[in-house]
Amino acid sequence: MKKKKNAHLTAADIKAYCNYCGSTVGQTSERTEEKVRAVYDCPRCGVNYCDQCSYFNKEDSVQRCLRCESKLEKVT
Ligand SMILES: [Zn+2]
Ligand SMILES: [Zn+2]
Repeated sequence: MKKKKNAHLTAADIKAYCNYCGSTVGQTSERTEEKVRAVYDCPRCGVNYCDQCSYFNKEDSVQRCLRCESKLEKVT
């Protein structure tokens, strides 16, 4: 299958959102009612989670997935 290139969308147009609570950066998460400051990508789950739906491990300063404990990569 050939991958379709979408010429109309630039990277700035595609807003990453949390697959758990549906929030984008700047919105308020329904889960914690706190403002979402960042959206992360979980390589193992293959979905995005906001900072409210993941947790920050103070011991190694890494944002981690609540489900699989994977290290998350910041998307936005
Ligand atoms: Zn979320
Ligand atoms: Zn995960």
